[in-house]
Amino acid sequence: MRKLVLVPTPIGHLADVTLRALEVLRQVEVVACEDTRRTAKLLRHYGIATPLVRVDQHTPDRAERLLEEHAYVAYASDAGTPGISDPGAELVARALAKGFRVEVLPGPTAFVPALVASGLPTARFVFEGFLPTGRARRRRLEALTHEERTVVLYEAPHRLARTLDDLIAIYGPDHPVALARELSKKHEEVWRGTLAAARARFERPRGEFVIVLGPREVPEERPDAAALAAELGEAGLSGRALAEALEARGVPRNEARRWAYRKEKA
Ligand code: SAM
Repeated sequence: MRKLVLVPTPIGHLADVTLRALEVLRQVEVVACEDTRRTAKLLRHYGIATPLVRVDQHTPDRAERLLEEHAYVAYASDAGTPGISDPGAELVARALAKGFRVEVLPGPTAFVPALVASGLPTARFVFEGFLPTGRARRRRLEALTHEERTVVLYEAPHRLARTLDDLIAIYGPDHPVALARELSKKHEEVWRGTLAAARARFERPRGEFVIVLGPREVPEERPDAAALAAELGEAGLSGRALAEALEARGVPRNEARRWAYRKEKA
């Protein structure tokens, strides 16, 4: 069966490639990649001579041809796991449509070490990738006002200040944040503090960044049980029906039963 293997590559340190990734890169007929110079450096370092073909969002015809002409193909993006904020997902869809078996090797990615090193809660998190530009950005930021999980974002250095400003507008200046910069590289740094302090600290940022925002406490919207009970009571409901109706509208069971009891006694 024809097979496409997505091969995660180091996000900085060349030793972070897995043994299995090297084995696959050696065995496949061809390695499709986002940037031939970058992937060639990795292959050279490990003495692998498999031919490389550049495939990205600007070369859909080449991707198509590649999958027609070869039966065992690897794909490596610039860095990290293909398909995470890069063109890998598109190639997967194309290969699946052509009946390829698709395998994804576990391996390096930027958001996992950033999240764990942030010191912020990791039990529940949401990966937002790069925030979009234009109108879609506003919608995405507004959606974050309801987000109760830790949020992980990717950002380019030249847009970091603007993104921090936008996040301060939503979360407030004192909200906890961690910025993971240049992970696994010489100038690796995980900075932890508030959004306002991050904005001041990274005035002229350099390198690659992951932003990790602490979870937001969204005030629970509790229904006004008294108002609802009065409203429903007027409709002539029995005590039991009133309790069920209150519960269906979000009133906690105990409280709903108390209102039903009062109704029965009235
Ligand atoms: N596929 C990659 C992955 O699995 O993480 C992500 C590719 S995306 C085009 C590039 C973004 O990942 C950068 O802008 C940055 O936000 C993040 N990134 C990649 N390498 C990084 C590193 N060494 N340190 C911090 N962030 C990094």
